[in-house]
Amino acid sequence: MRRLAGAAGLKDAVVINTCAVTNEAVRTARQNIRRARRARPGARIIVTGCAAQTAPDDFAAMSEVDAVIGNHEKLMPREWRALAQAPAPGDSDATTVRVNDIMSVRETAGHLIDGYGDRARAFLQIQNGCDHRCTFCIIPFGRGNSRSVPVSVAVEQAKRLTAAGHHEIVLTGVDMTSYGCDLEGAPTLGALVAALLDQVPALARLRLSSVDGAEIDAELFERITGDSRVAPYLHLSLQSGDNMILKRMKRRHTREQAIELCHNIRARRDDVAFGADIIAGFPTESEAMFARSLDIINEAGLQYLHVFPFSPRQGTPAALMPQVPRAIVKERAARLRTKAADALHGFLDTLVGREELAIMESGGRARLGNFASVKVINGETAAIGAACQLRLTARAGDLLIGEVA
Ligand code: SF4
Repeated sequence: MRRLAGAAGLKDAVVINTCAVTNEAVRTARQNIRRARRARPGARIIVTGCAAQTAPDDFAAMSEVDAVIGNHEKLMPREWRALAQAPAPGDSDATTVRVNDIMSVRETAGHLIDGYGDRARAFLQIQNGCDHRCTFCIIPFGRGNSRSVPVSVAVEQAKRLTAAGHHEIVLTGVDMTSYGCDLEGAPTLGALVAALLDQVPALARLRLSSVDGAEIDAELFERITGDSRVAPYLHLSLQSGDNMILKRMKRRHTREQAIELCHNIRARRDDVAFGADIIAGFPTESEAMFARSLDIINEAGLQYLHVFPFSPRQGTPAALMPQVPRAIVKERAARLRTKAADALHGFLDTLVGREELAIMESGGRARLGNFASVKVINGETAAIGAACQLRLTARAGDLLIGEVA
């Protein structure tokens, strides 16, 4: 968006890319808009992203907002040219709203970007949208149906990113494991990962963002477990440890399948760490059901948890189900976070005393393949993005302490 706005000659504008995943995310977006207006009184305030896509009128009604554009429109050069040519803020009272039906979007562009400045990791979007309709989730209404970036385009992009000096690429998407269904020949995510590893030898580390455990194909399993260039870290879209809640969420895996997947991967590659998203206090969740989410942390061997207190999103089936009182939702989220912190600390403690390869990030930090974050005490001179061998000497909270070996 920055590049498109610059190319269109749009000046003095603030673009706010909103998230709709929870009510809290929408509240934060509105807060940021008000804050941006106070900080930049003469600037044009443009709002986009999933919250804008799903509730354009709510944002258009804010006096601070000059334009609302949809998730598809925000990546189209002509939209930015139109914004650049629109009357200056103050010359017109009308808020521009350009948000089309996202469900009609059938293709996703490969966003060819040459690099991500001085960020250690580069992100490569290979898929967008989702054909599933989990009962709690607003995302498909913000992103539309599933569509994939062709393999050749993704490979080309990865080559450009590595040529720009990025050692690590993170593959991203809304529902990555549905990759390829819409493409000719229906290549799987495993086939894409294989093509990237085989055709981009300069790529030192390939990381997958969140995957749906129920949809990991055989080739992907082979690459995760058998190719050391795939980062030993997998983030599962788990959501609950209880089968009845998973069913009410319309998820496609059971508790047992998730645990078996973690065990099978670890049996083949014992350095893999696992993360997971878990929702606390989904409607109808009893204390016994919640206990199943707590104990799956140990049973599956999860180290990194993203805990979401359930947030009823208007328009989703779960918002109409019998709700768990807010105080209990919050209390369960806190208990999950405490248990998750214990699991993470126990895992990090097993790494102390080892030497590991890490990629330098900003602020004297580095990241291991298994996603552990390291404070590097003698890393001031190491370039961001450089690969370093680190001696891990201690743990401090959620961080490891290390020094360049
Ligand atoms: S698969 Fe993920 S993005 Fe799709 S509806 Fe379910 S939670 Fe939402």
